[in-house]
Amino acid sequence: MNIYDGHVHTPYCPHGSKDEFRAYVEQAIQLGMSGLTFTEHAPLPDGFIDPTPEKDSGMELQSLESYITQIENLKCEYKDDLVIRTGLEVDYIEGFEQETHRFLDQFGPYLDDSILSVHFLKTPSGYHCMDYSPDVFGHLLTVLGSVEALYALYYRTLHKSIEAKLGQYKPKRIGHISLVMKFQHKYPNRHLAKKEILQTLDQIANQKLQLDYNSSGVMKPLCREPYPPDWIIEEAMKREVQLVYGSDAHRAKDLGQGFEQLKKEAPLSQP
Ligand SMILES: [Zn+2]
Ligand SMILES: [Zn+2]
Repeated sequence: MNIYDGHVHTPYCPHGSKDEFRAYVEQAIQLGMSGLTFTEHAPLPDGFIDPTPEKDSGMELQSLESYITQIENLKCEYKDDLVIRTGLEVDYIEGFEQETHRFLDQFGPYLDDSILSVHFLKTPSGYHCMDYSPDVFGHLLTVLGSVEALYALYYRTLHKSIEAKLGQYKPKRIGHISLVMKFQHKYPNRHLAKKEILQTLDQIANQKLQLDYNSSGVMKPLCREPYPPDWIIEEAMKREVQLVYGSDAHRAKDLGQGFEQLKKEAPLSQP
């Protein structure tokens, strides 16, 4: 498995496992991977109140320095075995662009490679973490009126994330662009939002951003396909968008999860 995994969580994830960095690194070597980027959920922007019950969506700001230091130490220790990059999975949250810009200005210089993801949606009843659970997703449907309206809001927010002015350290890769399909077997959408998805790919191609080709959806019982699915990857390939594989592992043993379900012809890049 000579692949690079550009989306890996760590013991700093408050909702993930406590598997040590070393466990991920050793597992990657065992699998024959060429390298990985640690992309922990960045601290949420100043003033944003995490709507999840445990308020555990992002890492603590005060842990960031030791997070960065620990990865730097691993890079030296494993320099002959594996490429290791320091990264974050940064949330794009509508209305918190300035705070996110400030955060990136401060910490961007220490990052090699990052992902910009949409997990939170702004609705008339406040912010919701769209992928938290089927129940939250169902609640969002009652707030917004239909699955179609929810897809439309997700892709509108994704468009804003791609266009957002977040400064010179804005992440170069867009996370799991079909996360809205995570519960599709419970909440199917017959209209697929094809136009919005193609627009998203056009935007990504125009700005020469990379796509997180994320296999974790394969493992989700109500999704059962990668983020994004084959037809979107084919469209991305037509536009020559760079695809970077991401397992989105929250446990060391999940590195490489779902990889065999990805499109064989899809060319994978390193960040
Ligand atoms: Zn994510
Ligand atoms: Zn992730």
